[in-house]
Amino acid sequence: MNDLSPTHFQQREYSAAAKAFLARTPQLFINNEWVNSSADATIPVEDPSSGKEIGRVVDASDKDVDRAVSAARVAFDDGRWSGLPPIQRDRTMNRLADLLEANADLFAELEAIDNGKPKGMAAAVDVPAAASQIRFMAGWASKVNGEVIQPYTMPTGAVFGYTSREPVGVCAQIVPWNFPLLMACLKIAPALAAGCTIVLKPAEQTSLTTLLLADMVAQAGFPAGVVNIITGNGHTAGDRMVKHPDVDKVAFTGSTEIGKLINRNATDTLKHVTLELGGKSPVVIMPDVDVAEVAPGAAGAIFFNSGQVCVAGSRLFAHSSIFDKVIEGVAATGPFWGPRPSLDPEGHMGPLVSKEQFDKVMGYIEAGKRDGASVAMGGDAPATDGYYVNPTILVDVNPQMSVVREEIFGPVVVAQRFDDLDEVAKAANDTCYGLGAGVWTRDVATMHKLASKIKAGTVWGNCHGVIDTALPFGGYKESGVGREQGRNGIEAYLETKTVIIQM
Ligand code: NAP
Repeated sequence: MNDLSPTHFQQREYSAAAKAFLARTPQLFINNEWVNSSADATIPVEDPSSGKEIGRVVDASDKDVDRAVSAARVAFDDGRWSGLPPIQRDRTMNRLADLLEANADLFAELEAIDNGKPKGMAAAVDVPAAASQIRFMAGWASKVNGEVIQPYTMPTGAVFGYTSREPVGVCAQIVPWNFPLLMACLKIAPALAAGCTIVLKPAEQTSLTTLLLADMVAQAGFPAGVVNIITGNGHTAGDRMVKHPDVDKVAFTGSTEIGKLINRNATDTLKHVTLELGGKSPVVIMPDVDVAEVAPGAAGAIFFNSGQVCVAGSRLFAHSSIFDKVIEGVAATGPFWGPRPSLDPEGHMGPLVSKEQFDKVMGYIEAGKRDGASVAMGGDAPATDGYYVNPTILVDVNPQMSVVREEIFGPVVVAQRFDDLDEVAKAANDTCYGLGAGVWTRDVATMHKLASKIKAGTVWGNCHGVIDTALPFGGYKESGVGREQGRNGIEAYLETKTVIIQM
């Protein structure tokens, strides 16, 4: 599948700027300052392209979390951010986006080094999308208003009733490792626009770009304590954030399993909770398509970001009449998606993020084979350092197999046949998840029928995984609670206050 020369999987040299960043002393960003942890614990930073440790970040203690929450609490309560004129919040946020763009190359390189995704992809997708989240939400800072409402049971003019919108308060934001910078910006942008203050924790595997973002927060001119960034483990630092009595809202993106735990843990203090969770998204290919055009789209739906995408099109349904041609077409993209180190400019797919993820994905592939699935492409891993898995297509699967039911979060697609629309809609919905779905057809009526039948937060037509900051995003069923982006995104960070004044 690849040119397997001895240097094929060798990671490229880091830039001087990246080396300098990696050589920094591990610290936390609290109150606009870099501070030492109260304890001495750190966690390793690994380059998944080589499997080597390349630095360390703080493993925040309970005391560190308390300090960050306290900074955010004080900053919220004295109104130093929410009390600013909206135009100033808007401008500060746009300055942050400017700084992000001005440092795009370093952000893209650090993301590639830390997560394993191709630097070119981080530069083309992650960094601009992160900046656009901030710019779009900055505009909402001046556009959230209440309304004057005439009461139903009272004479006109008897009382003056109106609503106002207020920020929810201190937000604990916890994000995963698949799009670290983008996820961080997706979280902070609506909270900042609403006037909230923040404690953000990236995933332990991928803290680098979020720490670089902290530099920009201070430079952009946010008041101290508005954005606090701590690194560390989920089951310790994350847990403390979720249970902290001074936190008003928890916004989480990650696995369904941890999302359920967080929901339970936030219950005692009845925090606002929004959850963006896992998926097992179907891609449905109807018989009227041009297979040569559609197959690369179906391949991209699963192999982009090494399949580590919440909306990855991991269940492929192709009509029986074109099934073999679709599989051939997806398999033909194998060389394009063959994994390479993240700094290889020729790469389109990198390694998986960690040894743990590599073992998990290979475990699923082996389970699929044991259960009777056939491998139409890949099904193995290159024998080299780093966490590379070859793009994989499994056929001859059935709905009971774990590879069909569970989120693999790797470059593995399971392909099934269908014969009619109702059958495929039922099969597409045969999952506990409901995040995304792709439908490929030239027939507009078929498109609308499937869009209405499939239970998912987003349905794509003749494309997959297209995300825009103006369009709401979130999950049905066990894929989440609430929506991010668009107007819905900022609503999730606002309270509604009703005021009734006797005239
Ligand atoms: P994960 O294991 O659930 O971790 C996500 C975050 O939660 C990490 O920062 C993690 O910290 C933290 N965490 C773990 N245990 C915690 C606890 N007890 N309390 C508080 N925080 C805790 O997910 P992942 O493996 O990083 O990411 C992959 C998952 O994210 C997939 O299921 C994917 O579908 C989902 N995802 C969903 C969306 C969406 O928008 N719906 C987008 C992207 C990803 P540590 O890593 O430091 O332990």
